[in-house]
Amino acid sequence: MALLTLARYPFLPEAKEYLSKLSVDELFNSEDYAQARELGFIRVRASITGEKVPMPSIARESAQRTLFLSFFVAKLILIALGDPIVTRRFANVERDKLVRNLEEMPEDIDMIATAFEFRFSKQGDRYNLYFIDFIRYSKNFSDEKFRLINRELKQGWLPVEQHDFILLIREAFVERFVEDIDAQKHKGKLLEKYIRKELEELRTLKDEFVSKYSSADLGAVSVDAFPPCMKTIIAKIQQGLNVSHEARFSLVAFLHKIGMSNDEIMKIFATVPDFRKDLTEYQIKHITGEISGKEYSVPKCATMRAHGLCVKDIAKDKLCEKSWMTHPLLYYKIKKESKTKELPSKQNKSAESQ
Ligand code: SF4
Repeated sequence: MALLTLARYPFLPEAKEYLSKLSVDELFNSEDYAQARELGFIRVRASITGEKVPMPSIARESAQRTLFLSFFVAKLILIALGDPIVTRRFANVERDKLVRNLEEMPEDIDMIATAFEFRFSKQGDRYNLYFIDFIRYSKNFSDEKFRLINRELKQGWLPVEQHDFILLIREAFVERFVEDIDAQKHKGKLLEKYIRKELEELRTLKDEFVSKYSSADLGAVSVDAFPPCMKTIIAKIQQGLNVSHEARFSLVAFLHKIGMSNDEIMKIFATVPDFRKDLTEYQIKHITGEISGKEYSVPKCATMRAHGLCVKDIAKDKLCEKSWMTHPLLYYKIKKESKTKELPSKQNKSAESQ
C-alpha cells in the first residue's frame, strides 16, 4: 500500500506490515524518527488544549512517513497515559479528519468501509448496508433518519446516502480506536520509560483543563437526589463518553431547572470528549433561554424512555417504579425533601451518641 494512503489513513490494517520492521526502541530513540516523535506528542497535546497542529505538506515522501509514524507515536503515548478522556478527545480529532478526507475523496470510502468490516454494496452514489452494521454504528446519532424504524429495509439491507455512510464509518473508527488503546493498556508501564517527561506534561495539562471547568461542588444542589437517568448521563460524561444530543439537552434543562447557573453546568460538560467551550456555552444558553428567549422544559419520564434515557429497569429504584413517577423533576423534589427530613434526625442521633 502507498505510503501516502497510510499517511491519510494510518489505522488501516496494512500499517501493521510497515510497522513490523520497526521496534519501539528505534521509534523512541533513533534520530531518524525525531520529527515523528515530536509531531505525535503535539497531536496528543492538541487534543487536550485544542491548539492547531502544524502538519507537514503531505506531498513529500518524508512528510508522509512522519505523518504516518506520528499517529503511532500518539497511540503509544495514549496507551501509556491510560486516560479515557484524552483517548476519546484524540479519537474525535482523528474522526473529524477521516470525515473530511472521505468527503473530499469518496473513492476511498469502499477501502475504509471494508477495513472496518462493513457489509455493504454500492449503487451509484448510494450504498446498501446490512442492518446490523447500521444499528451498531448509528446508536450515537439522535437524528430521526438514523432510526431503523424510519428506514426502508429489504431482506436485511437498507439504502444509505454517501454522507450518512461516512458518518457511520466515522463511528466505527472511534469505537475501534478506543477499544484498541484499551486492549493494549497493559503495555503502558513498559512504554513509560521512553516518554516520562511527555506523560508528566500531558497529565498536568489534562488536570489543568479539567479543573478549569470541573467542580464537584454544585452549590445548593443536592446531587444525591438526582434521578438515576440524570446520574447516568453525568457518569457517562465524567467517564469521557460521548452522549447523545437528547441526553445533553435533558441534562442541561434539568440542571437549569433545579437552580444551577450556566457556569456550573459548563463545569459538568468539561470532560465530554468533544468539549468546546464556545459551542457548549452557546448550547446551554440556547436551552436555558438566554439566547433563544424560550426556556426549554425538562423532558418527562415517557419522553426520556422514548429516547432510551430512562434507566429505571437497570437502576431498580423504588421511586422510579412508582406508577405516579412521571417526571425527573418530581423525583428530584421528593428525594430532596426526604433527604432534608432525614438530616435532622441523623444529626440528632449522632449528637445523642456523643
Ligand atoms: S423513571 Fe423517570 S426519573 Fe426514573 S430514571 Fe426513568 S426517566 Fe428518570
